[in-house]
Amino acid sequence: MLAVEIISEKRKGRSLGREAWLEFADGAALGTWAESQLAAMLMAIALVGLDDQETGWLVEAMAQTGTRIPLDRFDRPAVDKHSTGGVGDKASLVVAPLAAACGLDVPMISGRSLGHTGGTLDKLESIPGFRVTLSVEELVASVREAGCTICSASDEIAPADSVLYSLRDSTATVDSIPLICGSILSKKLAEGICGLVLDVKCGSGAVFTNDSQSRGLARALVASGEAAGLSTTAVLSDMESPLGRTVGNAIEVDEAIDCLRGDGPDDLRELSLQLVGRMLVSGGVCDEVERGIAMAADALEAGLGMERFEKMVVVQGGDPRVLSGVTRRGNVFIVRATRGGWVCGLDALGIGRAAAILGGGAGGRDDRHAGVRVLSLVGSEVVEGDGVLELRSGDATRLGAAVGVALASITIGDEPAVSRETVLGTIGPESHRGASS
Ligand code: URA
Repeated sequence: MLAVEIISEKRKGRSLGREAWLEFADGAALGTWAESQLAAMLMAIALVGLDDQETGWLVEAMAQTGTRIPLDRFDRPAVDKHSTGGVGDKASLVVAPLAAACGLDVPMISGRSLGHTGGTLDKLESIPGFRVTLSVEELVASVREAGCTICSASDEIAPADSVLYSLRDSTATVDSIPLICGSILSKKLAEGICGLVLDVKCGSGAVFTNDSQSRGLARALVASGEAAGLSTTAVLSDMESPLGRTVGNAIEVDEAIDCLRGDGPDDLRELSLQLVGRMLVSGGVCDEVERGIAMAADALEAGLGMERFEKMVVVQGGDPRVLSGVTRRGNVFIVRATRGGWVCGLDALGIGRAAAILGGGAGGRDDRHAGVRVLSLVGSEVVEGDGVLELRSGDATRLGAAVGVALASITIGDEPAVSRETVLGTIGPESHRGASS
């Protein structure tokens, strides 16, 4: 089919076959479709939607535009985790080494900060020397050595995605669910994994702030992952308030290390164990999620996740001195409670924005210590003047700019408040039927 015929069919709402999706993905990767045609196709997809089978074909078609690591390149079952992105979300730094310690290989291709949400790669680059840009061969070698790697998608991985992603930005199609599925899952499929566990965030700091839209995204990701031949499960997790107590690149690495040493915040520990437990089932290491969670908890307790993290840092060129604690620098401002009561809300979106203003978010690699630390969690009782948030930045003028945003993210009420559960639900292959739009 010609490009114009494929666009026309989709615009009329017709379902396209595998060949058409291969044409589209190759057209993007090889430049054989004009930019105007790619943009028109993106808009048709965003307006009409795709069924699960088509989304699965889109995923496969995008993945085959680059190198697909064969499943047998790894010695152990290879399983990955992906988060849709959240504020303070450093779970990948705990999950990848912990899953490796429990018997999986984890070739994790990760992303950078997007808007107010932090990116795992930015966090890792706060470790001096840590290399996130690996070729496919280096990725495989790192996994073979450390059991896990966290790196960026090189040009070899799903090149159609980088072309389409930048066009999505300029065509207002970034939030199209089938296009999100194509983008996320094509890179995951290329990793040579047999299973994937998705962490789909729900709340003000998530991609979709409405829980039912987040659930729709989770369902579509699971359905299209399965259609593309990947065993896929989604965990829905809270993103009304930040995960853990830190938001910012180096301070999040510190917190992840605390968690790997058996300390750290409860929500980060719980989410990490839930995700690893499901990864272990997906990779066939155990039969039941509860058993997987118990295995992960034992490995965490024994320090085996930390051992894998150290190995990964060294293999990827990072300075291991970071493991014994980062010296915090910068100017500090404490945002205090303006009245007594109970902290009943710490808005993730607002705190993410404050961290970005301070230099601890997207592009914040030059100010590795910048960010926000939560001093009083949701549910804490405070009196007027108690510290609620600590703001830190190398640039004192940024502190002033962030204070108002940080203050507006705090809600103090008269009644004790309970924060939402960390894990709000799960979606497995059995509960995903439907269409994605
Ligand atoms: N991450 C991706 O890689 N792609 C998207 O579309 C959204 C998040």
